[in-house]
Amino acid sequence: MIDLHTHTNKSDGTDSPRELVNKAISLGMSVIGITDHDTTSGWLQAIESLRGDLALALGSEISCLTHDGISVHMLGLLFDGQHLEMQNMLEETRDGRLPRMRTMIEKMRAVGIDISMEDVYNALPTGATLGRPHLADALVNKGVIKSRDEAFQGMLNNDSEFYVSHAAPTPEDAIRMIRNAGGVAVIAHPFASLRGQILSASDFKSLVDAGLNGIEVDHRDQNPEERAMLRAIAEELDLVITGASDYHGSGKLNSLGEHGTSPDQ
Ligand code: AMP
Ligand code: ZN
Ligand code: FE
Ligand code: FE
Repeated sequence: MIDLHTHTNKSDGTDSPRELVNKAISLGMSVIGITDHDTTSGWLQAIESLRGDLALALGSEISCLTHDGISVHMLGLLFDGQHLEMQNMLEETRDGRLPRMRTMIEKMRAVGIDISMEDVYNALPTGATLGRPHLADALVNKGVIKSRDEAFQGMLNNDSEFYVSHAAPTPEDAIRMIRNAGGVAVIAHPFASLRGQILSASDFKSLVDAGLNGIEVDHRDQNPEERAMLRAIAEELDLVITGASDYHGSGKLNSLGEHGTSPDQ
């Protein structure tokens, strides 16, 4: 089983890189992608934990924003972790997540919700990329909501009054950076419409021109029709087709290896 998209507690997953690697080994998997949001900080521990037949596709899921304000996630895999411009780009995005979180909290406090930046920090693992799931955890700890899922179906959804975006590269810039750093670029769950506005089929051409290598097709947030459309786009544009779990530990229902990528791809 090749599962190219997972998260650890270096972003919004709940397993440490070591725990994730151990889980993959015990499941007899052949490859896992370590793709924490806007960081490579889980790579070292994953490498140190590696043994047996498991191989790692080290990467990152890079938050992107189109000029139209559509949120896009770009998986960069197998790029040089020491590439300075890449690390600067990731760091800038991580930095931008702080003022964004403060603004979301201010909006909540303005309508009387009892939540503070300190609550969010208390829910954030050391060194993790700060995101909405940590705000969700803080709201759970405060008894405002029951789960991350409930948060994303309501007050933390992209369409919610509390939602604020953060600065991020365009998908094209992220792709060019990934390729310059020697990696491959796979667009993550492009038709996952429950998360908010998504790309349209015609947007893929400019991504390919920037150097896009593949499309994540088999992902639980894309239904059979959406996957069929993406498969057709991938075939038309000669792109690799991937599948992955987007595993987040206990932070999401997704189980490790629930979708995979075929070896020929
Ligand atoms: P952010 O990057 O801060 O905008 O937060 C978005 C992240 O929240 C995505 O990477 C998702 O993995 C995560 N997410 C989205 N929906 C859910 C959900 N229902 N439960 C848990 N995490 C979610
Ligand atoms: Zn996530
Ligand atoms: Fe994503
Ligand atoms: Fe993800």
